[in-house]
Amino acid sequence: MTNEHSDCIFCKIAAGEIPSDKVYENEFVYAFNDIVPKTPTHVLLIPKKHIASLHAATDEDRELLAELLRAATKIAEITGVDQSGYRVLTNIGADGRQTVHHLHFHIHGGRKLGVDI
Ligand code: 5GP
Ligand code: ZN
Repeated sequence: MTNEHSDCIFCKIAAGEIPSDKVYENEFVYAFNDIVPKTPTHVLLIPKKHIASLHAATDEDRELLAELLRAATKIAEITGVDQSGYRVLTNIGADGRQTVHHLHFHIHGGRKLGVDI
């Protein structure tokens, strides 16, 4: 991990320094089950590169952002929600209720979702 932030929990998870329940991984991204699942399927999908939020991504990250969205659909298939439907979301900043400041997409599914998940 070339740009791991020493105090970032998701950098440590991507590096295998903190255990996680892995769902999917490739060269660029890592996905694992949320420790407090809000829905029957609740996967967190992160870039291995530390980016603080979607808003902190730059034009240099264009391919990585595309990789993340492609991985999200693969994860839907892996978790079996691709036919029933699912939601991909990312929280940004204080009003967005982002609590971990390493870009992550939540993948929710496994039941009919409400407005607030
Ligand atoms: P946010 O509120 O930043 O969008 O989402 C952060 C998510 O990370 C929360 O759903 C929270 O449950 C999850 N989370 C925080 N720490 C850990 C951890 O150590 N392991 C796992 N698997 N999930 C975590
Ligand atoms: Zn990080």
